[in-house]
Amino acid sequence: MARKILTEHINVPGIETFEVYRKQGGYAAVEKALKTLTPDEVVEEAKKSGIRGRGGAGFPMGMKWGFLAKPEGIPRYLVCNADESEPGTFKDHHLMKCLPHLLIEGMIVSSYALGANKSFIYVRGELMYVIRILEKAIAEAKANGFLGKNILGTGYDLELVVQSGGGAYICGEETALLESLEGKRGNPRNKPPFPAVKGLYQSPTVVNNVESIANMPWVINNGGEAYSAIGIGRSTGTKLISASGHIQKPGVYEIELGLGVEEFLNSDEYCGGIRKGHHLKALVAGGSSVPILPAHLIMKTAAGEDRLMSYESLSDGGFATGTMMGSGGFIVFDETACIVRNTWNFSRFYHHESCGQCSPCREGTGWMEKVLHRIEHGHGSMHDIDLLVDISKKIEGNTICPLGDAAAWPVASAVRHFRDEFMWHITHPHEASQPGAVYQGEMALV
Ligand code: SF4
Repeated sequence: MARKILTEHINVPGIETFEVYRKQGGYAAVEKALKTLTPDEVVEEAKKSGIRGRGGAGFPMGMKWGFLAKPEGIPRYLVCNADESEPGTFKDHHLMKCLPHLLIEGMIVSSYALGANKSFIYVRGELMYVIRILEKAIAEAKANGFLGKNILGTGYDLELVVQSGGGAYICGEETALLESLEGKRGNPRNKPPFPAVKGLYQSPTVVNNVESIANMPWVINNGGEAYSAIGIGRSTGTKLISASGHIQKPGVYEIELGLGVEEFLNSDEYCGGIRKGHHLKALVAGGSSVPILPAHLIMKTAAGEDRLMSYESLSDGGFATGTMMGSGGFIVFDETACIVRNTWNFSRFYHHESCGQCSPCREGTGWMEKVLHRIEHGHGSMHDIDLLVDISKKIEGNTICPLGDAAAWPVASAVRHFRDEFMWHITHPHEASQPGAVYQGEMALV
């Protein structure tokens, strides 16, 4: 069995309660950090661990903490981004539901490191039952002296607040989340200033993902160096992967970074292989916003190296032949999946979720959706294929927030790798627009 950092105790009955979590060694990191380490020493351990943000961007967490401004007399905030809404990603939901105290322990340690006395967990609004679980766990932690005033007699105070989001995908972008948390419409802010300087209520703020924060108890208990020894290269530690699509065993899996993609896909410990009688056609490795890969580039890179579950290996080859780790939403397609229909579906999502502040995203996502709709429904022309590429290039890199890129990359990569399939939809409009119709031409299936 592979090493587990986050999910080692996930199957212990009652682990969502304070009592059972504590019996399994829970809250030892809070005792160690608050009683024996200074806040700077906790930051140092996070830096040594090399852990990268697990929300999608993959930015080193310790470095992000190091950017936090510390002006005298101004409060600082830690905000946990639990607004997980990326299609194909559901690992934070699983973590919060099953191990609420792990997140709370991570929040206490991380808030202490940053000098925050009031911290927030901003949860996707649809997950009301998870909000209830978190609130119950916070009340238990407080009743046992791990939250509130003078925690464990150390003089450190922390109030932890759970805030429900309103159901907008864009509020997963950190500055939109802060706007929403302040009670405003969740529109992303222009940067600079960055949240580390002017974040929540114009105060220095760190926004971290659920999974990133949940790693901190292990980092404190075992040391940042021990954490960095797990994984491969600059992809340290473990990663939760949300596996879905045409596989035998969809679910959330904790993997050690550096595991082979082939092993993850085919071993019984993880996905269990493609569903019986079918073949691998394509993969979205990191949630709907990352480039889609065709079968022949999934197990091996273009250079013939084994493809690994790591930030570097998944992006090997750039966008020409690689993709991204993203949020770890591993969506598998077999030969029954229509790439054009899927791309149109993703496009509808991004058009719907665009906040509308900047023209390339507001207009471009709508145009892409319209062009994809007409190709899928038998009204496209060959010109439309290049038009899609042209629109995606005009969006990419020209928007206030990353939603523009997230909308452009799936479309550009689908055309790059599956142009034949788009052409077939145009040359066989009646056939292609039938429900369930799928291109059966030259495909490199595995
Ligand atoms: Fe809004 Fe899209 Fe611009 Fe982001 S890129 S600010 S979602 S319009």
